[in-house]
Amino acid sequence: MSGTPGSFPWQRGVRAAAALTFDVDAESCALVQDPGSVERMSLMGHQSYGPRVGVPRLLNVLRRHDVRATFFVPGYTAECYPDAVRAIVDDGHEVAHHGYVHESMRGLDEGKEAEYLDRGLKALERVAGVRPTGYRAPWWEMNWHTPKLLAERGFTYDSSLLDDDVPYLMTSSGPGSTELIEIPVDWSLDDWEQFAFYPGWTGSGVIESPLKALEMWSLEATTRHAEGGCFVLTAHPFLSGRPAKANVLDRLLELLRSLDGMWVTSLAEIAAHARPVCGPARTHERLTDVPV
Ligand SMILES: [Zn+2]
Repeated sequence: MSGTPGSFPWQRGVRAAAALTFDVDAESCALVQDPGSVERMSLMGHQSYGPRVGVPRLLNVLRRHDVRATFFVPGYTAECYPDAVRAIVDDGHEVAHHGYVHESMRGLDEGKEAEYLDRGLKALERVAGVRPTGYRAPWWEMNWHTPKLLAERGFTYDSSLLDDDVPYLMTSSGPGSTELIEIPVDWSLDDWEQFAFYPGWTGSGVIESPLKALEMWSLEATTRHAEGGCFVLTAHPFLSGRPAKANVLDRLLELLRSLDGMWVTSLAEIAAHARPVCGPARTHERLTDVPV
C-alpha cells in the first residue's frame, strides 16, 4: 500500500492525517555535542527559551485550534523543566520519548542504546507520570537494532525514518523480532532546516522567512491531503516557539483544519489507527556486500 497515493486505509470520513510534533530538546542537544557549552550563558538561554517561553506560547496556539499534538521530550529536559512537561500533559497532549540527553545513537551498540532508552523512560515517568508509547531518535538516527529495543519496551510506534509518506508496520529482523508502527518524517517538514542558527554551534547561517516556511509546509500539506497521505511537521520550541514562527504554525493549523477530511491529531492516535490496518510488516534489511 505504501507509496501509492490514495491507498492508505484511513478510517471512514478521513482522507489524510496531519500531526504537529515538537521536539523539546532545550539545552540537551547542545550539551551532548559539547559538554563545554554549559559555560556559554547565551547559548544555554537560547535553548532554555524552548520550555520556558516557547512551550506556553505553542500550547496557546494548540488550544485555540483544539488540536492534540505530540511532544518528544528528552528525559533531561523533563528533569530540568518539570512544570513545562506537566503543562503539556495537563493540556491533553502526548508526551513521547526522545532520548535521555538527546544522545547521538549513531553507531551505538545495543547495550548502550538500551541504557539510554531506559534512562529516558525513568525520567518521564518520575517527572510527569508518563509511560510513552512513541519514540523519536535524537537526530532521527536509528540503528538496525533500535526497532527491537523499542518493541521490547512496549513502544507501539517510532517516528524517525524517512522512507515513506504514510505509516507502515515494521519488524526487526533476527531473533526476538517484534513489530511496531513507523510514522515517517521528512527534512523538508522540519523547522531546524529553516530556522536553526547559532554561531559556533549549528545552522546554515541563514534564518529563512517564516512566510517561506509556511509556503513550503502548506504545499506539503495540500499535496499530502490530495494524495491521502500523512503530514508530520517536526518543530522545536526554541525555534518555532518564537513570535512570528508560532504565528506561522497558527496559520498552518488554520489551513490543516480547513482541508476536507484532514484528521489533525497526535502520532499516538495515528499509530493506534494504523496498527490493525497496516500490513504485512516490512523488514528492513541491511545491505550486504557493499562494494566499497
Ligand atoms: Zn531532537
